Amino acid sequence: MKDAHIDHRLIDGKAVMSRILDEVSAYFVQAAIGGRVARLVSVSIGDSPEVAVYVRNQARAAVKAGIRFDQELWSNEVSQDECKQLISEMNDDPEVLGIILQRPVPDHINVRSLQSAIHPLKDVEGMNPASIGNIVYSDMALAPCTAAAAVTLIKETGLDLKGLEVVMIGHSEIVGKPVALLLMAEGATVTVCHHMTRSLAIHSRRADVLVVAVGKPHLIGAEMVKPGAVVIDIGINHVVGSDGKSRIVGDVDTSAVKEIAGWVTPVPGGVGPVTVAMLMRNAMTAHQRQQAVGWIQ
Ligand code: NAD
Repeated sequence: MKDAHIDHRLIDGKAVMSRILDEVSAYFVQAAIGGRVARLVSVSIGDSPEVAVYVRNQARAAVKAGIRFDQELWSNEVSQDECKQLISEMNDDPEVLGIILQRPVPDHINVRSLQSAIHPLKDVEGMNPASIGNIVYSDMALAPCTAAAAVTLIKETGLDLKGLEVVMIGHSEIVGKPVALLLMAEGATVTVCHHMTRSLAIHSRRADVLVVAVGKPHLIGAEMVKPGAVVIDIGINHVVGSDGKSRIVGDVDTSAVKEIAGWVTPVPGGVGPVTVAMLMRNAMTAHQRQQAVGWIQ
């Protein structure tokens, strides 16, 4: 019998996260029997309260997944060359399983160039151009975590993605474009909208699956959603409520949209936790790939 207190139209990202972390943990328990498992290293450049929250969540997930997790905080004054040198040392260090480069970074740091410097087999965030390029060839092993989380949550509904009409709103390198590519590989028909798209609602209203990654609170109202659709809300926006308190909301007007949609991911508690779980799953994939090339036993 369904629990009357649980809204079954909201997809519970925390439950999905917990299931994935259990799978990853079971893998690493076995891997540790075969030999010592290396650690994940999180690199934050400069002090940022925003980044500290991400790192805390990742560290907690790593504990649940049975992976050692070290936090490095590099000074605000570190140069691009010094960062590259430190990354290169971690690439060569067999005690480092994967490298996470936290964003945002200070203005003088070129984040893309540093992501390129991370060895593709240690790129647990799936942000190296080689990892992004692999998605074009439908090789999903180390996909960008948020994009992979969106796909995982769509699959939670049990819908067969083949032939489904998906509309992706947002076309950034780290979210929108990879989501579109991953879903094409699953057989969906994908339309990508962005800030220059005319009449967003014309596209969004015919979507069986609507994925939104823009960064604008309440961009998507109920009138923009097809009845019964799956709505995946990737947006993270800090807003101040009528009580004067700051809170996090997505890009979707969740309470209105859930009256018409079949499924909606809540913010917080939807895509966010699953993104962290994907990072740990990527660590597992990195371990498997490093083993396959003989880096580790
Ligand atoms: P971005 O700023 O790089 O890209 C925004 C995208 O939205 C662009 O493609 C732009 O063309 C489009 N856009 C802007 N205004 C629009 C409009 N009015 N109509 C249609 N499209 C419009 O952002 P991003 O890095 O892709 O992040 C998007 C959102 O997702 C942000 O809120 C970010 O905080 C959030 N995010 C969440 C996670 C997570 O793990 N949950 C991870 C990454 C980003």
